[in-house]
Amino acid sequence: MDFRYSEEQEMMRRMARDFADKEIAPFAMEWDKKDEYPAETIKKMFEVGLLTVGIPSEYGGPGVDHVAQALVTEELSRGDAGVCVIMAASTLLGPDPVYLAATDEQKKWWYDQQNEGVLSAFCLTEPGAGSDAAGISTRYVKDGDCYILNGTKQFISNGGVAGLYTVFATADKKLGPKGISCFMVDRNTPGVSIGPKEDKLGIRSSNTTSVIFEDVRVPAWNLLGQEGQGFKICMQTLDISRAIVAAMATGVAQAAFEAAVKYAAERVQFGKPIATFQMVQAMLADMAMYIEASRLLYLSASSKQDMGLPYTAAASLAKCFAGDTAMKVATDAVQVFGGYGYTKEYPVEKYFRDAKIMQIFEGTAQVQRIIIAGDVMRSMT
Ligand SMILES: Cc1cc2nc3c(=O)[nH]c(=O)nc-3n(C[C@H](O)[C@H](O)[C@H](O)COP(=O)(O)OP(=O)(O)OC[C@H]3O[C@@H](n4cnc5c(N)ncnc54)[C@H](O)[C@@H]3O)c2cc1C
Repeated sequence: MDFRYSEEQEMMRRMARDFADKEIAPFAMEWDKKDEYPAETIKKMFEVGLLTVGIPSEYGGPGVDHVAQALVTEELSRGDAGVCVIMAASTLLGPDPVYLAATDEQKKWWYDQQNEGVLSAFCLTEPGAGSDAAGISTRYVKDGDCYILNGTKQFISNGGVAGLYTVFATADKKLGPKGISCFMVDRNTPGVSIGPKEDKLGIRSSNTTSVIFEDVRVPAWNLLGQEGQGFKICMQTLDISRAIVAAMATGVAQAAFEAAVKYAAERVQFGKPIATFQMVQAMLADMAMYIEASRLLYLSASSKQDMGLPYTAAASLAKCFAGDTAMKVATDAVQVFGGYGYTKEYPVEKYFRDAKIMQIFEGTAQVQRIIIAGDVMRSMT
């Protein structure tokens, strides 16, 4: 087993790191404070190629592997998890159903727009269906050579800034997973509207809204795969994307860790830097351990994807562990900062708030444990 990154992986990682250091991290606290979507920075990210990292080379993208995509994700998240969510929802999560199930023509249609700078979003969650993804109520009916969509999607990352959506809908809720299909929807289609922006705890630079579909008529051509394949496409998308969320969580943890180490070396109490006290050292050592384990887990899941090996359980292990790690490390980073960590003067308070979402979206920590336990029971009994 070779733990070194390939030249291309290292090049992508460095590019993302440099961009995050110069264009993201210095402004992240301001965006957070103002609850501001950083439109100019997103434009720059597109110009340097960081918003199209998920596009295969045959469709005009860089065609980098899943490991490189995850490394880019960690580095951007180290700069600001909200900006990282904008990137990940647009070039990885939103288009993954296209990547998995679209025809060549459909891929061209979708990726050509993304190559022009159009953002995308993944529309699964609804007010009444979160963890229970098969319980969605958004309906579709066939009408001649069109499908008509009706329903509301909740908590959609990039909901208000995307031009393209992948949307999951059911022909009949009673059919459960078998009734679900997935459609590509252009934001400008009549009947599509956007709800108000969510006022969130963390990742405040990202845009999260509901997306409403009222008699939205899409050409039958926009169906991905066959009718009834939507739930499978959705589960496969989340498998891919969970390694990405694990990388994102690792980035938040890494940022909180670096801030804690620096502060511990500078802050003097009892005549000594607090980094010399063993209990503070133990917190820093635990942070280092958990972060490295998170990184290895997401790299393992991403490598399995690149090698064509099964990766569902590996992705859940990575997502669950890294999400919990982000929360633990950010909590301890606040502890290292003492009372100052509890104020908005230092960034650890923001990392603490940003970390929480890593245990919630794309399958909560509880849902990941259900998947992991299911895999354990299947493989060991
Ligand atoms: C900022 C943000 C961005 C998001 N981005 C997107 C996006 O781009 N696209 C999208 O489609 N969705 C998105 N989501 C939605 C997100 O994926 C869901 O919020 C998440 O899956 C949980 O669903 P829920 O909020 O309905 O919680 P619920 O499913 O109602 O869960 C509530 C609690 O019950 C627990 N629970 C539920 N079922 C079980 C069970 N069987 N066993 C044990 N515990 C259980 C959960 O773990 C959780 O603790 C986003 C959410 C947020 C907050």
